[in-house]
Amino acid sequence: MKNTHICPKCQGSDIVFAKGEEQAYGIGNNVRAGVFKQVIINRYICCTCGYSEEWLDLQDVPRVKKYCEKKNRI
Ligand SMILES: [Zn+2]
Repeated sequence: MKNTHICPKCQGSDIVFAKGEEQAYGIGNNVRAGVFKQVIINRYICCTCGYSEEWLDLQDVPRVKKYCEKKNRI
């Protein structure tokens, strides 16, 4: 939806962008990137069916990747 602006579930085109917010104590839509460190998650929401898609800012991905690889070895 980020790139196409079309919902992959219902093909709707009424898409809104909800920017993630950083709030105290790690509250909000985010993913952990270390102790007391979070990275916000932005959402694209389909107003026709309610489907939402979550994206991180690309610049934040290396921090999350480093943390996840260390914390959650597969
Ligand atoms: Zn939809």
